[in-house]
Amino acid sequence: MKRVTILGSTGSIGKQALDVVRMHPDLFCLHGLSAHSSEAAFLAQLRAERPRRAVFSRPLAEAEPGVELSFGEAALCALAADPETDVVVLAISGIAALTPLLSALKAGKRVAIANKESLVCGGDLVKRALQAGQGELLPVDSEQSALFQCLQNGRRSEVEKLILTASGGPFFRRPREELRDITPAEALKHPTWSMGRKISLDSATLMNKGLEVMEASRLFDFPGERIEVLIHPQSLVHSMVAYRDGTVMANLSAADMRLPIQYAMTWPERMPSPAAPLKLWERPELTFFKPDMARFPALEMAYFCLRAGGGCPVVYNGANERAAELFFAGQLGFLEIEESVAYALDRFSNRPMKDLDDILAADGEARRLVDEFQMTRSLQ
Ligand code: NAD
Ligand code: MG
Repeated sequence: MKRVTILGSTGSIGKQALDVVRMHPDLFCLHGLSAHSSEAAFLAQLRAERPRRAVFSRPLAEAEPGVELSFGEAALCALAADPETDVVVLAISGIAALTPLLSALKAGKRVAIANKESLVCGGDLVKRALQAGQGELLPVDSEQSALFQCLQNGRRSEVEKLILTASGGPFFRRPREELRDITPAEALKHPTWSMGRKISLDSATLMNKGLEVMEASRLFDFPGERIEVLIHPQSLVHSMVAYRDGTVMANLSAADMRLPIQYAMTWPERMPSPAAPLKLWERPELTFFKPDMARFPALEMAYFCLRAGGGCPVVYNGANERAAELFFAGQLGFLEIEESVAYALDRFSNRPMKDLDDILAADGEARRLVDEFQMTRSLQ
């Protein structure tokens, strides 16, 4: 019986992870939950799921009998490292996931990781925490889970390249000039997946794919030159691995995140899941396009950041997080998201990231640079 803790339980991934736990009462029991916002939804979860421990970002108005409640970042990290938990599902969004990730890995947990921002920013720190604590990192992000599964079919030395697929987002076919006036509501309509707000926007700007190129590089230790992106609007092939003899292994399934969440939790076992069986004859068209880097600067900047290393990936992520907030607040336009990331990268003087303080300082600088960009824009 694995004791599971879900960090970010009120979110899209968090709720689906709860589903997986509920579906396998013989394999999993719930130990802990955490959330940051939606106080009412969190209290309802505590009432329904009755975890042993729960952490909210700030004090809650109510208590829940039988649930040991605590508050704040230190409590979150303690829950991630709790000796009474075996698997931590990391479903927090943004760089806020980095400190609990490091705590869980140092404590030797299996981390089923959905969050990509922490991997992009954490770089060597995550690697060191893995070595120090004998923790395990199992990918939940559908593309990374696909790569992880395809990589099990051969030796690393036999791999030619990793091929990440991208839906292209809702605006893939629109000319760039038409994108300037996209509203938050339009940006949130993802063609194939239903997800949290920030990742839906990241899919529309292609910043999500840029983050995933860096995420794949961190998880599987391949340089950017050996990671390719292909636009695949049907989202049936979740990613592929090309081997040196010309074989390409692809991973296909219905677009249901409960499948990769569960696989990260049960690996190396594969268990029945609620994902609908794939009826390929009903979806006969599978198409692939090479992305035009000039059309998708978000991708080009991600490859640049991987090559540059140091604080550039942190700035890419931090600037994007801040730009997303400003876009949702109606203070930045859609194309200004990538423009503000470019602005921040241009002005950041790159340096090595030795520790968490360096990372948080670069993240703060990126956010300030985006605010500066926004100020200059609003004065024009
Ligand atoms: P979401 O916004 O729906 O949920 C985020 C959760 O994290 C919520 O429970 C929220 O309370 C918590 N949270 C937010 N900020 C926090 C903070 N500062 N401190 C502590 N907790 C905080 O997000 P989501 O769509 O579930 O995505 C979560 C992560 O998984 C993201 O990194 C995303 O890129 C990744 N991911 C999501 C999907 C998907 O289908 N939704 C797929 C692949 C990867
Ligand atoms: Mg993904």
